[in-house]
Amino acid sequence: MRDIELYATVLGTLPPWKVTEANLDVGEQVVDVPVAHEGTATCPVCGEQTPRCDTRPRRWRHLDLCQYRLFIMAEVPRVNCPTHGVRQITVPWAEERSGFTALFEQCVIAWLRKLSFGAVVRRMRISWDEVDGIMMRAVGRGLERRTKRVVRFIGIDEKSIRRRHKYFTIVSDLEGLPQL
Ligand SMILES: [Zn+2]
Repeated sequence: MRDIELYATVLGTLPPWKVTEANLDVGEQVVDVPVAHEGTATCPVCGEQTPRCDTRPRRWRHLDLCQYRLFIMAEVPRVNCPTHGVRQITVPWAEERSGFTALFEQCVIAWLRKLSFGAVVRRMRISWDEVDGIMMRAVGRGLERRTKRVVRFIGIDEKSIRRRHKYFTIVSDLEGLPQL
């Protein structure tokens, strides 16, 4: 299997995206995998096929390949939609504003459940701010998935803190509590 086919298989690249090269930097321990968009482009808002106007260079950190840090690179087309104006098309491997692939972000979130923040920074070889950004995007996705509903029954309780006259109030959704 040739290098390009190997990376295309491992990365799960599907048309219209195509792996074009695989560049290994042994000194920096980095693999750069450029991918090209070959096909028609659609507006990310309405999905209409629209003419491309230009491209923007992007680079995303993906899961490590053994001890090598792996990056996907692409010239991402921008389209000029008659309704929504100039927009960059979406890529299937990452969120719009992230410099990491979705799989890399999932891995960071999984480690955050097990390790301290600092340990995740060291293990994933990224900065505190980058871990924080990944965490904030995950929180945003969670909030988007939340559905609004009216709580029918609430329970209210008051607890004192450390035997002083300081109290906090706990309000709970009685129907949402686990059944005992
Ligand atoms: Zn549009």
